[in-house]
Amino acid sequence: MTDGSLSFPIVNKVSPTPHLLPRPRFDPPGAFSRDLETEATAYFEGSGRSRRDLPRMYLKGVVMFTWWVTSWVLLVFFAKNGFTATAAAISLGLSIAGIGMSVQHDGNHGAASKRGWVNRVFGCGLDVMGVCSFIWRQKHNTCHHTFTNVQGIDYDLDFGILGRLSPEQRHLPWHRFQHIYLWFFYGFLLPKWVFHDDFVVLKTGYIGQHALIKPTPGKLVAFFGWKVFFIGWAIVIPAMFHPLWQVVVFHMVACFALGLTLGTVFQLAHCSSEVEFPELPEKGRLPEWTAHQLATTVDFAPNSRLITWFVGGLNYQSVHHLFPKVSHLHYPALARIVERVALKHGLRYRSQPTLWGALGTHVGHLRALAKKPSVVASDAIPCDLREHAG
Ligand SMILES: [Zn+2]
Repeated sequence: MTDGSLSFPIVNKVSPTPHLLPRPRFDPPGAFSRDLETEATAYFEGSGRSRRDLPRMYLKGVVMFTWWVTSWVLLVFFAKNGFTATAAAISLGLSIAGIGMSVQHDGNHGAASKRGWVNRVFGCGLDVMGVCSFIWRQKHNTCHHTFTNVQGIDYDLDFGILGRLSPEQRHLPWHRFQHIYLWFFYGFLLPKWVFHDDFVVLKTGYIGQHALIKPTPGKLVAFFGWKVFFIGWAIVIPAMFHPLWQVVVFHMVACFALGLTLGTVFQLAHCSSEVEFPELPEKGRLPEWTAHQLATTVDFAPNSRLITWFVGGLNYQSVHHLFPKVSHLHYPALARIVERVALKHGLRYRSQPTLWGALGTHVGHLRALAKKPSVVASDAIPCDLREHAG
């Protein structure tokens, strides 16, 4: 569990925005944080189980990568017609989604192992699918995990003009249909990351207002090397055996299956009528970080072992946010602790019993924000992320 005091790096150039609010800070950890850590420690010591380096996690990584390679081989060398090719492409997309949620996610959080190199191997699962893990760690671990659902910092809320995901975002006329059309755009998540977002961040040196840590020459070589590797296995090699148009079509089928899966899992956890969207405080002060995570995150389908396995425990998103450096295989057990401790402290632990219920609350959230607000929001004033943290 972190204390929410993740540091921001030195800014390496002048921020593009002249008017900034101060960098927000959280109230110090209180009784809830302390009780949570005490109970979690008792669970690990009582069960004798390690927080990381679980044999089942290594087995899962092997299963996921085998699924990915098998799907790719079936698609490129054995699919005989449009039907079998579509099935193999969907399987390929889902296998990469599985790697994204169950393998790389733990690795890039440092939750797979206590050994750094093992986490880096797991984390490369993201580079394999063409997304730069160096950039993603800063975007996800720092911006999203620390300031969850805070407009202007949590990059995951930013859909540009396409969607209005938080109450502070400006309303545009087409948003009244966003609960219908956004699903389509979720399907393009991967190409957006691979061919647009990574390059924009690298070129500008910023993730929103967050200054990117300056990449070393080695990181730059890795950035372009992994992009070439991705284009190689996803486009070039298949195009040596099939017409290019067919390769592009089935590549997009795989991307759509992947993007729709990832986009939906992300959105169910944070963009829901169940959660809160704290305003960026004028004085830069937010409540206790653990309470903030509980208020901005909702779990779903906790009793589905299939969903829990496939999404890498991200249906226990609250638990993941509270214990990001613990293997996701512990989440079901930790969820019971979180619920009990939250109840003791009068805090609400949010959990939707079913996937369908969670989908309903996401649609409800999109519909609520689709209505034109009575008070028209101006563009939120971003906060100053240029200083060093403590
Ligand atoms: Zn995460």
